[in-house]
Amino acid sequence: RKPVVAIVGRPNVGKSTLFNRIIGERRSIVEDTPNVTRDRLYEETEWLGRPFLLVDTGGIEFNKETKLKDKMHYQTEIAIEEADVILFLVDVREGLTNDDREIANYLRQTEKPVILTANKAENNEQAEMDKYEFYELGFEDVQLVSAEHGLRTGDLLDKIISHF
Ligand code: GDP
Ligand code: MG
Repeated sequence: RKPVVAIVGRPNVGKSTLFNRIIGERRSIVEDTPNVTRDRLYEETEWLGRPFLLVDTGGIEFNKETKLKDKMHYQTEIAIEEADVILFLVDVREGLTNDDREIANYLRQTEKPVILTANKAENNEQAEMDKYEFYELGFEDVQLVSAEHGLRTGDLLDKIISHF
């Protein structure tokens, strides 16, 4: 069985962009279709010859009445169950939000490795300063990336495969 790496995070942090960046294609569609239930998106990929299955959990949509909090918990729950490594994505431009804290609380219950990754870090100097607020979440490190521009995604992939 190939290791499973799940990308988890609140909406709009760039999960699908990162998923596409890592698999090297536009497969995960960024769209907001209400009242549509979709499966998680899986894609097989590899880094330095180490194959793994990447999962974009953000595609799951519930009906509109489903609270964001419940959606996130559901997605995070699935990710914890299935994943060998959890990639917890936050947005360094927007900064730490309560939804991030909620997800972090949820992820703290797992024994599985969590890689806290702060996306949208195009402005390196600014991001290096802004990343420190995410240490409050209690994970070991904060990996900066820009999914859109492909910055430091190699470092992130090195970290991911170090857990296999
Ligand atoms: P998701 O909801 O977590 O899957 O987020 P998306 O991948 O759909 O991205 C949400 C928005 O953030 C889109 O407008 C993306 O273009 C933008 N975005 C994603 N990655 C980056 C990044 O590295 N830098 C910047 N500046 N914007 C990004
Ligand atoms: Mg998405």
